[in-house]
Amino acid sequence: MEFRKLRLSGFKSFVEPSELRIEPGLTGVVGPNGCGKSNLLEAIRWVMAESSPKSMRSGGMEDVIFAGTSTRPPRDFAEVVLHAKDDDGEDLDVTRRIERGAGSAYRLNGRDVRAKDISLIFADAATGAHSPALVSQGKIAQVIAAKSTERRMMLEEAAGIAGLHVRRRDAESKLRSTEKNLERLEDLMAGLD
Ligand code: ATP
Repeated sequence: MEFRKLRLSGFKSFVEPSELRIEPGLTGVVGPNGCGKSNLLEAIRWVMAESSPKSMRSGGMEDVIFAGTSTRPPRDFAEVVLHAKDDDGEDLDVTRRIERGAGSAYRLNGRDVRAKDISLIFADAATGAHSPALVSQGKIAQVIAAKSTERRMMLEEAAGIAGLHVRRRDAESKLRSTEKNLERLEDLMAGLD
């Protein structure tokens, strides 16, 4: 998968609608302290359905919405759109929007989808929110200091198999509910004898 374009509006310090082209190859973001470099990387993670406030450097999910300054009022919503091409060259337009008091909503090529659908698309393409393709500040030191289980998770992300854990959990839960249904059916059939 190739990321082509990122559009932000009301996301953290990007209060005005801003659009960035992402060129092929390695992309570095440079600029003075506090100009919003890390916020850009967080926007990419966020649109890929990141749900941990810790990795978004915020207390609650709504903290990603522009909070206002002495000269500008706060915004009511934040929206990030990521335009990408999948491995077959098909366009993927992923939108995440959060409104105060209303939570997050996701769209894939204009259709409403669940957070899980979005995170699986990126996890399967080995470009998910925890992908080693996104190198934020302190990440290199974190890799060096990581425990072996954490390193394994990084390798699983890079290999594009992280989504299998989610599917395994789903399959196990379906299996459990089917077993319960079967037991109930057997009870009912025993009652008919
Ligand atoms: P450094 O090089 O110091 O790490 P940086 O370029 O990575 O900085 P960021 O950390 O991305 O900068 O941006 C920090 C800026 O974003 C701060 O000025 C902070 O006030 C602003 N910011 C973060 N969240 C919000 C928000 N919800 N509303 C408004 N501004 C925000």
